[in-house]
Order: sequence, then structure tokens, then C-alpha cells
Amino acid sequence: MWLRASIILKAIIQVIILFKQQRIFRETSHIRHTSPARKSCLTCVAVLIPFRNRHEHLPIFFLHLIPMLQKQRLEFAFYVIEQTGTQPFNRAMLFNVGFKEAMKDSVWDCVIFHDVDHLPENDRNYYGCGEMPRHFAAKLDKYMYILPYKEFFGGVSGLTVEQFRKINGFPNAFWGWGGEDDDLWNRVHYAGYNVTRPEGDLGKYKSIPHHHRGEVQFLGRYKLLRYSKERQYIDGLNNLVYTPKILVDRLYTNISVNLMPELAPIEDY
Ligand code: UDP
Ligand code: MN
Repeated sequence: MWLRASIILKAIIQVIILFKQQRIFRETSHIRHTSPARKSCLTCVAVLIPFRNRHEHLPIFFLHLIPMLQKQRLEFAFYVIEQTGTQPFNRAMLFNVGFKEAMKDSVWDCVIFHDVDHLPENDRNYYGCGEMPRHFAAKLDKYMYILPYKEFFGGVSGLTVEQFRKINGFPNAFWGWGGEDDDLWNRVHYAGYNVTRPEGDLGKYKSIPHHHRGEVQFLGRYKLLRYSKERQYIDGLNNLVYTPKILVDRLYTNISVNLMPELAPIEDY
């Protein structure tokens, strides 16, 4: 009895999501409306989403983010950077690839690095960039809305194009779960920046529950993190080589890449 009720409820929710999605599709044919001819644009935001095999998250993510960004009067585009192949997931390298592709695509001021399963709870959490790199996802429901540690820089962060170039992007050497966000925190501070966060409850996020099927922890992260400073300018945007397959969808640009360690060679630390 309860099982049947929950199946019916899930079906109803799916129909509502599909219905809303259709409406958003109609209203957002203008999403990618930044002009490449423009030299600069302070309200232009590229949202990068690292991705592999989380298809059920995408419609929920767009449904949530599009109305919020429209309300904030930002000009925006989404880039889903999808990792193919069999190597462990490399969130940081996907962000570097997304950054380079977004720069080829249009003029952006601000780049948001966004997990697909993070949904802002407050639509006044403004997705623009400032003088300093920003950590948007300060209070996550899965961490009981408490910052897990002072240097936490995961989930959703944002840097201007200039800031991201100055820190040499993310490291490419983090294969598997963990550590790359802490390395970014180190890079930002070694470059002389501080991180800002939204005030009070503005930085609250819900996370879409998921399993960690087939994902591996990156056990080498502690060693790499000890050498953040030495590695910063030898591993990042400047040693990245890749061959993307690009598909422009209605709501986003899909960039798929088969990442392999030899695509970002550095001496071993
Ligand atoms: N991700 C993905 N597929 C994976 C692993 C990670 O798409 O197999 C992306 C996705 O955007 C996700 C982010 O990387 O939100 C961070 O990974 P995950 O959610 O596994 O990290 P955790 O929630 O444990 O911090
Ligand atoms: Mn997650």
C-alpha cells in the first residue's frame, strides 16, 4: 500500500518536473545571449559543471538554477564537462577544460565552479564575482549547515577570469575523490587573495542525495597538498592538453573529454 503510494508520488513529481522543464525550455531560448564581439561584461557568468553518469541530476539542477540566475539579471551559460573513459574522476581537470572552452566560446567576467548536486536554497546568493575569489556553498544541509573546516572550498566556488588565470587554474593531478578543492584554496592564498563567503543563511545549499558507485578516493591527495606551493605553477592551466567533443544543447554546452594522466605531464612530487 505505502509502496504503491510512494511510486505514484514519485511519478507525479516526475511529471511536474517535466512540465516545468518544458516551460523553462520555452522561456530560455535566449540563455546564451552574450556577444563574442563585446570586450568585457561584468554580469556575464559561465557556470561550469563537472560531470559523469549523474544524468538524473541535470534537469533538477537546471530547473533550480535558471530562474535564480534570471532573477539576478545575470547573463549566463552552462558548460557541462563530461569525463569519458575509464580513469578515476578528475573534477579539477574537468574545470580547467571547461574554463578554456568557455573562454573560446564567449566573453565572461566570472566563472562559477559548480557541483551538479548542489542547489542554492536562497536565490539572493548572488552568482557574480568580486575583488576576491568566492566560496558560495558555505552551509550545506549534508554538513548540518556548518562549515566543515575554515579552509573548505568545495561544492560551489567562483573566480573572475583574471583571478583564475593568475592562480594557474585547478591542479590536474588529483585523480579520484578529494583534495582538489583544498589545493585550490592554497593556490588562491599563495597568490595573495582571501576568500569571501555569503553572509548568514544566504550560503545555504541542499544536496541531491547520491551513491558513490564505482568512485575511488584519491589517497595521494595528502602528499600533493603538502607541495601545493611548489606545484602551483607547473600543474594547472599551463600544462593541460586535451581533445574535446563539443555538443551544443538547448540549455547547455556539453564538452566531453577522455582524460588521462599523460595529458597533463609534470615531474613527480
Ligand atoms: N561528479 C560526477 N560523477 C561522478 C563523480 C562526481 O558527475 O561520478 C561530479 C558532480 O558534479 C558532483 C561533483 O563531481 O556533484 C562532486 O563529486 P561528488 O558529488 O561525488 O562529491 P561529494 O558529494 O562526495 O563531495
Ligand atoms: Mn555530491
